[in-house]
Amino acid sequence: MKSRILHMLRGRTEPVSGEALSARLGVSRVAIWKHLQKLQSLGYTIDSTAKGYRLLNIPDKLYPWEFDGWENRIVHHETLDSTMEAARRLAREDCPAFTVVIAEAQTVGRGRLRRAWISEAGGIYFTVVLRPELPPQLAFRVNFIASTMLAKVLRRRYDVDARVKWPNDILIDGRKVCGLLAEMEAEADAVRFVNIGIGLNANNDPPPVPTGAVSLSQVLGRRVSRRNLLTDFLDTFKERMEAGNLENAVAEWRPFAITMGRRVQVATGREILEGTAMDVDDNGALILEFFDGTQRAVIYGDCFLRPD
Ligand code: ATP
Repeated sequence: MKSRILHMLRGRTEPVSGEALSARLGVSRVAIWKHLQKLQSLGYTIDSTAKGYRLLNIPDKLYPWEFDGWENRIVHHETLDSTMEAARRLAREDCPAFTVVIAEAQTVGRGRLRRAWISEAGGIYFTVVLRPELPPQLAFRVNFIASTMLAKVLRRRYDVDARVKWPNDILIDGRKVCGLLAEMEAEADAVRFVNIGIGLNANNDPPPVPTGAVSLSQVLGRRVSRRNLLTDFLDTFKERMEAGNLENAVAEWRPFAITMGRRVQVATGREILEGTAMDVDDNGALILEFFDGTQRAVIYGDCFLRPD
């Protein structure tokens, strides 16, 4: 109902009467008034006169009803420990595919290997629950599709040189604007869910980190519409996932990759490897060439770019 009321008020300069709203939406004027009260308590500025209602200002919040077609899939929180934890609970309770958990801020946002992802208000923090028909060993493809689609959307919307860094970051001008995280649960030989968590520096000032961080507002010198950006990404990502051909995930990702041909250091957890990043194979592993010419596929690790 909130979405439908806002739809009728948005973009109108003339007030819309309570009568018109109630007739169009098929509910009483009292019900309309109650919804408008609720919207005002959530930060919408709605002018109310004898002639009717006018929408003067929309809060900068990622409320479900702000996303056309996603209203029933989005679960919005002001603050969460981590959208990954909340999404995992929902996924285990059999929520539908493309359920999206959003938090305006996270208190314990995390990166890979339980490292912290600083998540202050102004950024975009969300986890998408997916249920692809894939064997568990191919679930990594979803991660590659997500980062490719996000890099594409950032390029298209803001004309920035967004690049993907193996395995899970998006950089602009070499600085981290976004981190992605994937988590999977499987039953025997089928994926039960793959959750993709994304932390994107939009209008927040990211923390100083050794490898360099940046936000979209810092790159562009203006604030971005978090709602429009997230709508664009969710629509693009869903469309790509539903198109199938997931076996092309790595091939589609490769042209956006920053790492190839560069000297890198990779910490696998057990050792630190140094060499040249040659490629990412169809299993999502980084092919590293050592200085003696031998090669090795690294499945999991941190990848640091080294100056050439
Ligand atoms: P690295 O960036 O060190 O190569 P990684 O890509 O695996 O590692 P993640 O584990 O995904 O990184 O994310 C956690 C790391 O990201 C933290 O250790 C910190 O360096 C950095 N970080 C934390 N919060 C932010 C943020 N808001 N913006 C950019 N970088 C951040």
